[in-house]
Amino acid sequence: MSRRMLVTGGAGFIGANFVHYWTQHYPDDMIVVLDVLTYAGNRSSIAALEALPNFEFVHGSITDRDLVTGLLQKNELDTIVHFAAESHVDRSIEGPAAFIDTNIIGTLTLLEAAREVWLKGDGVPHRFHHISTDEVFGTLTHDAAPFTEQHPYQPNSPYAASKAGSDHLVRAWFHTYGLQVTTSNCSNNYGPYHFPEKLIPLAITNLLLGKKVPIYGDGKNVRDWLYVEDHARGIEAILNQDEVGGTWNIGGNNEWNNLDLISELCRALDNAFSEDPGWKSKYPHCPAANGALCADHREFVSDRPGHDLRYAIDASLLRNNLGFEPKIQIQAGLQQTVSWYLKNDAWWRPLAAS
Ligand code: NAD
Repeated sequence: MSRRMLVTGGAGFIGANFVHYWTQHYPDDMIVVLDVLTYAGNRSSIAALEALPNFEFVHGSITDRDLVTGLLQKNELDTIVHFAAESHVDRSIEGPAAFIDTNIIGTLTLLEAAREVWLKGDGVPHRFHHISTDEVFGTLTHDAAPFTEQHPYQPNSPYAASKAGSDHLVRAWFHTYGLQVTTSNCSNNYGPYHFPEKLIPLAITNLLLGKKVPIYGDGKNVRDWLYVEDHARGIEAILNQDEVGGTWNIGGNNEWNNLDLISELCRALDNAFSEDPGWKSKYPHCPAANGALCADHREFVSDRPGHDLRYAIDASLLRNNLGFEPKIQIQAGLQQTVSWYLKNDAWWRPLAAS
């Protein structure tokens, strides 16, 4: 059975990687990407897909109820995969209101449009999949057990609080109205098309431009890193099973503190330059182009307020019930990511300058 899918936020980092994955693996499915193109949205990330006959890009907001209802009706869409969000914790500290508008009001608008179109009369088969984060669970001490799906919600940043609010709405639309929903809470992602304000793409692009890599606090904050294509595969596993109403954790079982992660990344960059000295002329200011080690170009900066110490995901539900395991290990994933940024400076240079 082919799907007819609305992908919100499909021009952002994870959404773009998801639609690349989906069009390759499900070429008969229809995809409509709805994206308002904030600073984090980039139409060039999905430009190659726009030539496909069953792919459409719509420039607009998830907070526009008439637009969303019209798209669901006109295209007879039966699936929503909801990525659209304000997603950067630092920006949520500077200006939380946009996070409430997009992440909470936007999700409410989508849920109401879906309810109107999919549940009227006898209803039609459908699925609403909501993409969320492990940050809703709060923080862990270094020796605490990883978050399970039952972990209490304890969001600490405005971003995490807005995502927690959206998760609760999605749950309520299942219990109250019977909307067929699933939610996934995923750990930190990395890979291609990642806006260079987040740690890994910021580190790579800074080093390629000869700038230092800022490390918050003492660099001991721990995150569980997942290659973005593995996130797409995790969502696929959830969409392809029939149980609705619940939440699923997706994680990499791959905890790194920021300092060690940046050391691995620096090694990958140093290696890329020694394997292909051609990069020296393209990136002459990179330490690796000048016989220096990238790892020597880090600087410690003041910590983020309320910076969560550690996130770690217990993904055993997904593994045991759906057989899902991440495929890409961190060294290979970092190498692929470095290689993508080396080759795709036309994508990131305008963003790094902004
Ligand atoms: P991103 O910031 O790179 O992309 C967000 C996209 O949403 C952008 O294309 C933006 O233009 C679009 N958007 C924002 N407001 C919109 C609106 N009102 N209407 C339509 N589109 C809008 O974010 P990302 O890192 O790709 O994250 C995608 C989703 O995954 C988010 O819901 C985020 O909470 C979640 N998540 C992210 C991570 C991670 O490591 N990046 C981890 C777990 C979960």
